[in-house]
Amino acid sequence: MSKLSITDLNLKGKKVLLRVDFNVPMKDGQITDDNRIVEALPTIKYVLKEGGKAIVFSHLGRIKTEEDKAKETLLPVSKKLEELLGQKVVFVPVTRGKELEDAIASLKDGEILMFENTRFEDVPGKKESGNDPELGAYWASLGDVFVNDAFGTAHRAHASNVGISSHIEKSAAGFLMEKELKYIGEAVDNPVRPFIAILGGAKVSDKIGVIENLLKKADKVLIGGGMAYTFYKAEGLEIGTSICEEDKLDLAKELIEKGKDKLVLPIDNVVAKAFDNDSESKVVKATEIPSDMMGLDVGPETLKLYADSLKGAKTVVWNGPVGVFELPSFAKGTKTLCEMLANLEGAVTIIGGGDSASAAISMGYKEKFTHISTGGGASLEYLEGKVLPGVAALTDK
Ligand code: AMP
Repeated sequence: MSKLSITDLNLKGKKVLLRVDFNVPMKDGQITDDNRIVEALPTIKYVLKEGGKAIVFSHLGRIKTEEDKAKETLLPVSKKLEELLGQKVVFVPVTRGKELEDAIASLKDGEILMFENTRFEDVPGKKESGNDPELGAYWASLGDVFVNDAFGTAHRAHASNVGISSHIEKSAAGFLMEKELKYIGEAVDNPVRPFIAILGGAKVSDKIGVIENLLKKADKVLIGGGMAYTFYKAEGLEIGTSICEEDKLDLAKELIEKGKDKLVLPIDNVVAKAFDNDSESKVVKATEIPSDMMGLDVGPETLKLYADSLKGAKTVVWNGPVGVFELPSFAKGTKTLCEMLANLEGAVTIIGGGDSASAAISMGYKEKFTHISTGGGASLEYLEGKVLPGVAALTDK
């Protein structure tokens, strides 16, 4: 990579500002998936082992009012980090001021503290999300060097990434950031072929840029999930009550024309009367969706077609479930796809974050992929070929 790496820095005795992405899913104050914390451990451990003083920070959720602050505190996340790290993590419940500065001053080499949710600075004044220069400069003043390991927010220019990078001498990528950029970057820019992309999820509109870019780069783009029905309708097929974006029909038509044989649509579907796990369902061909039913999963013939298209693949990038995997009756397509990818020999398999990552992890395939991205929006923008501001702001080698 052309950007400074954490391994290029001398960390001994340094106050190391370490931006991580601990925006983890929570329910009733409990963390429901600690993957993002686990993935940041190698960088944190490295800083501590090298004798740095780790000052860790992250955003969590969105803060729009003072009341949001109580439920978006990072305190439970710091406890989880302490447990996973097996070392005391001092939690500082503020984002600036004397309490934070004193806590940093009393850190010894190899010790770690974590301060409160960076987005607490969004009320009032959107200082974090608006990349307020005073805030970026202040946070930068608290440390000697900056390590950015928050790939999940690298597509945003915020005070806690771009702001700090602009006000400190050295900003380097952490190990997770490097891993994300390496796998996704190589897949898109220099894939070992055949390179197959699989795109699903609810809407075409979220993934237009990705489909366009991957149609240029991949050997095949397999489409599944709710977005398939906008393509069907663009082709003049009956889609019943399936999800559809009427205002994207022209675009879908254009993509079908551009994609030609490269763009592979589902040839059969599991349809149901209602968006309900217990709704009566059946498998129908693409051309036979009843007017009073909706497509909620890809059918068995489509899965065979996916299997054929994936035969011999050397690079696979997948983003978006191919059915409503949250409802067990319509999870078969997504689960079978996980299984297929898990059994592909000699292929680099990458999940581009978001719902397909949670689907694969919850279905027990976490260890079966070469790389599961921790960034949903960021990996989509990277797959689109966009420059990520958080990465661009790092110091050049
Ligand atoms: P995305 O965030 O765009 O990747 O979309 C993920 C969501 O798409 C998941 O919540 C799925 O339940 C949903 N999804 C997948 N297939 C369908 C479908 N056929 N109809 C409606 N929603 C779907």
